Amino acid sequence: MGERVSRATAVPCFTLVPMTEPLACFPADPLDADELYMRLAMAEARAAESAGEVPVGAVVVSAAGEVLGRAHNAVLRTHDPTAHAEIVALREAGLRLGNYRLNGATLYCTLEPCAMCAGAILHARLRRVVFAARDPKAGACGSALDVMNHPALNHRAELTAGVLEEECSAMLTNFFRRRRLSQQRVVHLNVADAEKV
Ligand SMILES: [Zn+2]
Repeated sequence: MGERVSRATAVPCFTLVPMTEPLACFPADPLDADELYMRLAMAEARAAESAGEVPVGAVVVSAAGEVLGRAHNAVLRTHDPTAHAEIVALREAGLRLGNYRLNGATLYCTLEPCAMCAGAILHARLRRVVFAARDPKAGACGSALDVMNHPALNHRAELTAGVLEEECSAMLTNFFRRRRLSQQRVVHLNVADAEKV
């Protein structure tokens, strides 16, 4: 059996939505390209936040600079613990190419990938991973764990950390602060109701 699965037989876990902003640009300066694609990932993160999800976004870009997949965290809405932004973006890219191997591609993510996503990235044979904020609690690219580029594994991906880190960290910090405040308000309201009884 070959590795490729035709688009006709592949069963998509998510509907492949045509991208509204197709982007195939290749800035002369690779650092500019990293920022540009990270801003796309940030737009996805903001879409996650608007939908009540933790704001994390990801974009998969081919070696030629074509956006193959872009997605955001969707675990709550899909009741799917695997629906992290990176996984959903990888699925979209695989469907677009008709191949689960994404050789030569780069994944941009607003937060350091977890162990599950790092495993999927290695299976997809991505050439490079670029992320913004570090995740000291669950990051698997050197923070909490070192799944990516573990010496026992047979695939390596080039890692770049810290692209637009401040902006992406602030987005997450503000999200969790707002969520804590709204939870505290709910507790206060419940206490007030209980006191009336
Ligand atoms: Zn993950």
